[in-house]
Amino acid sequence: MKLTFLGAGRGGFPAPDCNSCAAMLECGNGVYLIDAGAPVLELMTVRGIPFERLKGVFTTHMHGDHTFGLLSLCSVCSWHYTGCDMDVFLAEDRGIAALKELILSMDKVFHEDRIRLKKARPGVIYTDENITVTAIPTAHCQPYPSYAYMIEGEGKRVFFSGDLHHGDAADFPLIAREEPSDLIVCEMTHIDHDVMLPLLGSCPTKKVLFNHVCWDYDEKCAAIKAAQGTYPMPIIAVSDGETYLI
Ligand SMILES: [Zn+2]
Ligand SMILES: [Zn+2]
Repeated sequence: MKLTFLGAGRGGFPAPDCNSCAAMLECGNGVYLIDAGAPVLELMTVRGIPFERLKGVFTTHMHGDHTFGLLSLCSVCSWHYTGCDMDVFLAEDRGIAALKELILSMDKVFHEDRIRLKKARPGVIYTDENITVTAIPTAHCQPYPSYAYMIEGEGKRVFFSGDLHHGDAADFPLIAREEPSDLIVCEMTHIDHDVMLPLLGSCPTKKVLFNHVCWDYDEKCAAIKAAQGTYPMPIIAVSDGETYLI
């Protein structure tokens, strides 16, 4: 597995050196996105990723910094890249309906048979020859749904926290605290480092990557750096364009 942070999501808006949340996972012959903040279409194009390899898009919740890239991605993969065949998961029906209607209003045709907009739900939502994806409910958008994801493939297990409950991360997936994993990708926008670092440090995982590090960025990055070496696994704050082999 190879994980590339197309956008590390420093905040809810793009910065000169940081795009919104979009992580690209390559496994076998497949490419998968966890969140699709803008400009994910352009960032994949710059890297020469064939869109025909994109098999699944798993958005954690409907906030724009995780979904604004869906419009151009789904539109272009529908009308231009006619070899595309993918499942696109969103957290809410109204998001699916709105995205479809917006694409139709612009393109007049939307190839739903190839670009399949689906509602995420708790449990296993996707499986193919490369990966299995399990959605785990979180409380970030209460009363609206949001999800963390567990992705398993090539004998590896990776957790993506998605955005968590403000302040306490009480919804951080229990399974990630209890079951071994190769990597946890965790946000640090809505929770302070003094909450997240002990929590992640106690998880039975081989590596922790923090994305979506926002508000008090310098202070949080300094705390993450200071924690390196004091926990049993590497703990790193990621930047745009970084790639990690799992
Ligand atoms: Zn959010
Ligand atoms: Zn966010």
